[in-house]
Amino acid sequence: MLAMTVEGSPIDPHRPSIARVYDYLLGGKDNYAADREVGDVFKRDLPGSVAIAFANRAALTRAVAEIARTTEVRQFVDLGSGLPTADNVHQVAQRHAPESRVVYVDIDPQVLVHGRALLEQNDRTRVVRADVRDPESVRNHRDTLELIDFDRPVAVMFSAILHHVNDEEDPAGIVSHWRDHVTSGSYFFVSHFRSGNNPETAEAERVLQKTFGRGRWRTDKEIEALLDGLEILAPGIVPAPLWRPETPDGPWNGGRGGDGGSGADSGTGG
Ligand code: SAM
Repeated sequence: MLAMTVEGSPIDPHRPSIARVYDYLLGGKDNYAADREVGDVFKRDLPGSVAIAFANRAALTRAVAEIARTTEVRQFVDLGSGLPTADNVHQVAQRHAPESRVVYVDIDPQVLVHGRALLEQNDRTRVVRADVRDPESVRNHRDTLELIDFDRPVAVMFSAILHHVNDEEDPAGIVSHWRDHVTSGSYFFVSHFRSGNNPETAEAERVLQKTFGRGRWRTDKEIEALLDGLEILAPGIVPAPLWRPETPDGPWNGGRGGDGGSGADSGTGG
């Protein structure tokens, strides 16, 4: 297999990547044997893993649609955006509000390559390679500043990303940084692995930590603590399928057909 380098970082097909394992769970094709091996551990040991991934994606789609349809917000920053899939954030947002602008942010070099090819479909989308643990570098990135006017409200999407930030890396500090640097009228969307305080989620956390050195299943109380200073909107912190299920644009099926499920938590703050 050939290795490729993007902005100085190699795409290593022999080492699993979070983005590609997730792509595998969603039924995508941008993954290698090493990713499928980890994904298969999840499918075997954490029942409902595939349904959880689909439910998360569906909740994200509904949240973007809800923001684009019902608020004045026309700019989105999608943190830890993942590999392109069906109904990416700009497609959903621009379906409801064509003038919407979207900056995708991910640390994975493969996301940058595939994203630039598939997500930068018009002059209102950009893909930025940056580390969400350094929010200043995301906000001040040339491409972010080109598209996002921070004097106007922004939607900051933390979809399935904060659980990839370990406690000692201060996930609450990342959220509060964005809270303190966006104007009022901005919205946050957060989805997060939900700890059931049971052997399955403890084992899943062990596998992710061993494989990637990151991955936290947090309790609802711990997730709420990450949202300090934000007003949590109805219906609050709930399993992903229960987050505003009546919103149009669901169910998300990856363009291929799939099922719903639970296990990830979601909520919006404004
Ligand atoms: N947000 C998408 C969704 O909810 O469908 C994708 C979520 S995927 C589980 C997590 C993504 O976060 C991966 O693409 C991974 O590369 C990215 N990621 C993990 N740690 C990151 C970091 N420190 N900075 C930027 N991206 C990161």
